[in-house]
Amino acid sequence: MNIKSVAFRGSFKSYTQCPADGKPEFAFIGRSNVGKSSLINMLVNRKDMVRVSNKPGKTQSINYFLINDLFYLVDLPGYGYARVSKTERIAWKKMIAAYFTNRPGLACVYQLIDIRLEPQAVDIDFTNQLGEWQVPFQLVFTKCDKVSKGDGLLNIQRYFNKLRATWDVLPHHTVTSAEKTTGREAFLDTIRQTLEELNC
Ligand code: GDP
Repeated sequence: MNIKSVAFRGSFKSYTQCPADGKPEFAFIGRSNVGKSSLINMLVNRKDMVRVSNKPGKTQSINYFLINDLFYLVDLPGYGYARVSKTERIAWKKMIAAYFTNRPGLACVYQLIDIRLEPQAVDIDFTNQLGEWQVPFQLVFTKCDKVSKGDGLLNIQRYFNKLRATWDVLPHHTVTSAEKTTGREAFLDTIRQTLEELNC
């Protein structure tokens, strides 16, 4: 898929303020520092389209980018940042739950996971939560340039072994590096396929 145009459509505090034009949306979420901003920038071929607005300490917001006038990439605030207060964590959960359960245009959620790490409870819990919300999602293992192929595959295997406790069918996954642009085509292909399935 060619990325022909990219336009920032706004930063919103609640799903109720998000665009209501019904265009399909593809949302990105993961632990803080997982490489979400870098991945989105890599996908759209812009150096710093996604700025640091969702960094810890800043107001948490949902950022919309319109691609090819056809669909949205949605940058959601991340989770798992240690120095966030309990009140902020609860507010985040409420905002995210409301978003995931109230967006009919939600075509796919991409949960990002750092391929260098053994399975983290906070990631597994979030994958299971996506299942409970019954939203379509895929996993994206990031920063693959930082590990050998063998170690990367082992960590993916470990993650799936954990998921097997609750999942019969394992989610689709891609492996990426924003640094080396690895996996860009395969990733964009998952978007193209989903759009085709939606007749877009
Ligand atoms: P976010 O908090 O999830 O948006 O993460 P960022 O995109 O800001 O990335 C966090 C850190 O990881 C930054 O220092 C990035 O340069 C680095 N990073 C992100 N993606 C990659 C990658 O694919 N490879 C490498 N080596 N570093 C990465």
